[in-house]
Amino acid sequence: MTALLWLRRDLRLHDLPALLAAHEAGGEVLPVFVADPVLLASAGAVRRAHLAAALAELDESYDGAVVVRVGRPEEEIPRLVREVGAGSVHVSRETTPYGRNRDERVGRTLDEVPLVATGTPYAVGPGLVRKADGGPFQVFTPFSRAWREHGWPRPAPLPDGLRWHRGVESSPVPWDEEADVRCGEATALARWADFLENDLADYGRDRDRPDLDATSQLSVHLKYGTIHPRTMLADIAAHPAGRGEGARRFVTELCWREFYADVLWHRPESAWADLREDLRGMEYADPDGDASDHVHAWQEGRTGYPFVDAGMRQLLTEGWMHNRVRMVVASFLVKDLHVWWGHGARYFLEHLRDGDVASNNHGWQWVAGTGTDPAPYFRVFNPITQGERFDPDGAYVRRYVPELAHVPGRAVHQPWTVPDGLSNGYPERIVDHAAERLEALRRYEAAKASNGPGG
Ligand SMILES: Cc1cc2nc3c(=O)[nH]c(=O)nc-3n(C[C@H](O)[C@H](O)[C@H](O)COP(=O)(O)OP(=O)(O)OC[C@H]3O[C@@H](n4cnc5c(N)ncnc54)[C@H](O)[C@@H]3O)c2cc1C
Repeated sequence: MTALLWLRRDLRLHDLPALLAAHEAGGEVLPVFVADPVLLASAGAVRRAHLAAALAELDESYDGAVVVRVGRPEEEIPRLVREVGAGSVHVSRETTPYGRNRDERVGRTLDEVPLVATGTPYAVGPGLVRKADGGPFQVFTPFSRAWREHGWPRPAPLPDGLRWHRGVESSPVPWDEEADVRCGEATALARWADFLENDLADYGRDRDRPDLDATSQLSVHLKYGTIHPRTMLADIAAHPAGRGEGARRFVTELCWREFYADVLWHRPESAWADLREDLRGMEYADPDGDASDHVHAWQEGRTGYPFVDAGMRQLLTEGWMHNRVRMVVASFLVKDLHVWWGHGARYFLEHLRDGDVASNNHGWQWVAGTGTDPAPYFRVFNPITQGERFDPDGAYVRRYVPELAHVPGRAVHQPWTVPDGLSNGYPERIVDHAAERLEALRRYEAAKASNGPGG
């Protein structure tokens, strides 16, 4: 009997436990991807282009067997099951709020045919790492210790004698016009091999430097599952650089991804609501998050703060932004412009190729001071000194802000101090950081007071 392999965030051939399970069901395997209009609409053009590219590469590695259908999964999956008389439907367990609800709905439509979940997009499935008392971790460091102690399985082998089910029609997907994007398993594995050889050893030293190409840029691949973190962890363990400081730090970053997925698993409502209630009653500017000139200037990289603007322009041109700069621009929106973090998170999800609700929304909450870990609200990033420290020669700013290309060295972080610094059309600062920092603290104190003692 044919087994359906319903692919979602696991667009690869290797190290895919759900594929192994589908094969072990005993018959042919029909791999299917359902282009869900709800997810396509929320993805943004950059992410849709990467998804389309990942599916094209997947189809090549599956020997042309992948069937793509457009529609609601709760209609398309049962339809396909009936079409081929499938005996089981196999998935990687989904852990986001939308995915979990969707899978429950699909499961209910399948009657006798089981929806079998094997593996997740994480080294350790969300919900599995627990405190001694069985409760979830709230803070990263103890989670990461327990996560390492828990350990993870070896990468799954490729099934022996895999047989694809053929002859099922795909439906045409309304992709945006062709974008020049490469994404997929072969691309991910090549990028990973290059990073492992050339950058892992120095990752601990260079990872905070947006002017250097020092991070893996694998986030989009982890997002779509064109590589699995288990594969990466096994490769690190087997590599000569795997015991060094760079590797230790890199594994910690992978663990942040797992931590945020775990937090979201336990607290699904925290996708779009403050995780902690510390800032309940906070007075925010621009309640719609998209109405004020300030927010538009932030979105378009015209705040007059070069490090912030370089980051926002990198986002718009590349669909990616360096982690250090993500923290600084997020802090600027929340604490200099006093806008609720959810508006920034939504904008990021629309423009990031790696846009991921767990890492993104909890990254925003961390910066805002409403999320996990003691990242207190009163720790406000200074966009000038952050730039001077992490882009010491100003190369990052000059790469993305051509109006400042003539300003040499680190002076580019304060072009208003250079005689002709603003002569090429770079804008004046839209707010005074020092004053807005104090205003943020005032709002914070007021919110705390309105929450009462202990609030
Ligand atoms: C406000 C904000 C929003 C963010 N939004 C996203 C998002 O939508 N999607 C996303 O994948 N990451 C997000 N991050 C985390 C981080 O910025 C990116 O994962 C990282 O910049 C991706 O680049 P890289 O692959 O070169 O990372 P590397 O430095 O090479 O790290 C390797 C991998 O570890 C994981 N990782 C690294 N840092 C973090 C982190 N702080 N939190 C969670 N996982 C991490 C990622 O999967 C990353 O690909 C966000 C961070 C902040 C502060």
